[in-house]
Formats: sequence, C-alpha cells, structure tokens
Amino acid sequence: MKIAFFDTKEYDQQSFEPYVKNGIEFQFYDTKLCEATAELARGADAVCVFVNDDVNAAVIEKLCSFGIGLIVLRCAGYNNVDLAAASGKIRVARVPAYSPHAVAEHTMALLLCSVRRIHKAYNRTKDFNFSLNGLTGFDLYGKTMGVIGTGKIGKALIEICRGFGMNVLAYDKYPSEATGARYTELDELFCESDIISLHCPLTPETEHLIDRDSIEKMQKGVVLINTSRGALINSEDLLEGIKERKIGAACLDVYEEESDLFFEDFSGHIVNDDTLARLITMPNVIVTSHQAFLTEEALSGIAETTVSNILDYFEGRELENEVCMRCGNAENRIEEPAPIGAGV
Ligand code: NAD
Repeated sequence: MKIAFFDTKEYDQQSFEPYVKNGIEFQFYDTKLCEATAELARGADAVCVFVNDDVNAAVIEKLCSFGIGLIVLRCAGYNNVDLAAASGKIRVARVPAYSPHAVAEHTMALLLCSVRRIHKAYNRTKDFNFSLNGLTGFDLYGKTMGVIGTGKIGKALIEICRGFGMNVLAYDKYPSEATGARYTELDELFCESDIISLHCPLTPETEHLIDRDSIEKMQKGVVLINTSRGALINSEDLLEGIKERKIGAACLDVYEEESDLFFEDFSGHIVNDDTLARLITMPNVIVTSHQAFLTEEALSGIAETTVSNILDYFEGRELENEVCMRCGNAENRIEEPAPIGAGV
C-alpha cells in the first residue's frame, strides 16, 4: 500500500514512523495537494491530506484517473474536500476525534494570554522592563462564556470554563443534554456573552457567522476566539469591529485566507494579505497559525486513526470514519446544506 502524504512537516513524519511495519509505504510531500500537484500521487493507492489541501472536483477527477480509491484526512474538519464530487467515485475518511482537549486547552491558553497580557509581559521582562503599565486584565471568574458548537471540543471547553467558575451559554444546531451549559438562541448568546468561542464546523450555513450584523449585537469589549475554521468570521468585519473599539480582543488560531500562509515561515518576506497584516498589528489580537491541535497526544491519535482508516479500507472492513453525502453513521452524515468545497 503506497500512500502519498501531502502538506507534511517533520512532526507529521515522526508520528507516522511507527506504522511503517504495517506494510504501508509512506511518500511524504511538503507541498499541498491541489490540481497542479496532484500528479505526485500517480502510482499511489491512496492520498493523505490535511486542512489546507485543496481537494476540489478537478483534483478528485485526477486522483480517480490514477486509480486511487481513498482520501484520508489527518484532521476532523472536511470542508476542503468536495464531497459531492467524491460521491460514488472515491471514498473519504477523517479522524473525527484526536484529543479534543488539545484544541480546548489551546482555546483557554489564548484567552488567558490575551486577558492577562502574558504575551506583552513576556516580551517586556525579556528586555528587563518590569513595568506593569497597560497590563491590567480581568478575572474570568463570574464572566459569561458563549460557546458556539457543543461537539467534542466545545464540550471540553465548557468543562474547563466551569472549572474557572464561569457561566456558560451554548448554541448548537443539534443541542446535546450532557454539556452542563445553558442553551440559548444565537442572538441571546451574542448579547449576553463576555467571551465568544467558535467550535462549529464550516458549512455554507456557518460561513461568516461572525460578521458586521452579529458583531453589532455583541457587548462592547467582547473577546472573540476562533480555533475552528477561519471563514466562520468575516475578517474585514472583525477588523472594523476592532477599529470601532467594539471588540475588546480577538484570539485567532485560524484565518479565512490562511491556506497560502499558515504552517510556513514568512519572516523576512512581504506578506500581501493586508487584512491579516492589520489584524496582527493590533495590540488586542493574538494569532497562532492553526496550532491548537499540536500536542504529542493529538499527533499520535491522528496517526493511529489515519492508519486504521487506511487498513480498514484496504483490508475490506467497514470504513468507520467515512465522510460522504449519505453515510449511515449519524456522526458523520452531512445534512443539507453540503459543506463548503475548498479554500480554508
Ligand atoms: P464535532 O463534530 O464534535 O462538533 C461540532 C458541533 O458543531 C456539533 O455539536 C454540531 O452539532 C455543531 N454544529 C453543526 N452545525 C452547526 C451550526 N450551523 N451552528 C451551530 N453548531 C453547529 O467537532 P469537534 O471535534 O468539536 O470540532 C469542531 C471544529 O473544530 C471542527 O469543525 C474543526 O473545524 C475545528 N478543529 C480545529 C482544530 C485546530 O487545530 N484549530 C483542530 C480540530 C478541529
């Protein structure tokens, strides 16, 4: 079994090394999968992709013409795969859960860093500047956190917030009983929350869920956190909200135009994305580059499930983690509307 891995870094390769013995040959490419690079997969039996690979209809057509029958995602989100184009031609499997705690803990790390100005204090003390001016934060205890999307990561974050003595409001299209949070309508969550954290998938319905209109409904000084998918937020509207002093702080692990930038070193280059550049210059914005998943536990969980998906397919077992337009598994079934094709 020859698997072509796209968009890989050293840490990916290390986490898959223990599985070479299973008769799987890994071909690691650091380039992303797109129409121009799909040729690299010729001769492989399956491809393995990550969040910013662009698995659109043209790429799927090429993969099928090479006789490839399986796309395995090293991630939970699958908005970058055109499932309609894949339907009936090529099968797609993902890693539905790999340490939701990794992402939930990074979310809280961003929040604490932002509201206690840890990033500023770190830089100051490195320069022997022990002044506290401008570092005043606020307590999380007693504040209201609004969690949008109460799946695995949302639930893990709710538990963390409850440990901090926060009130938690939640919104989910499919509310779940066991969260310990109070479900509200989206508008109430926007109005009542001191902090809002996004944990729903990117679909046409959730694209730009945070825009000028929703920001208008929020409290002055609200803290926005996005560790889910960039296009949940309209970045231009976010920037306006910050400039108007409506948004108190933004913590972004994802960005809607991240695919050509994140995971690479652009220090020393001129970055052409003016919106991202302006966001980064804001004193109340923290950006991490899609790093929330990056823990040892999550990487080994991703490798284990990905290899198990590959073996299930090639050894003729049921593909438990399949995502498709009409999969029977309710967890993976895609309700209308279909997920967004590519680009995030
Ligand atoms: P999950 O499937 O367990 O939960 C998603 C939740 O969103 C579900 O409860 C679902 O009902 C809800 N939902 C669906 N449509 C909705 C809508 N229109 N409005 C509100 N809620 C809606 O997924 P998860 O494992 O908790 O992951 C959540 C997201 O986090 C993923 O979609 C992925 O994009 C992102 N993620 C990011 C990283 C990272 O490194 N930054 C890592 C893993 C996952």
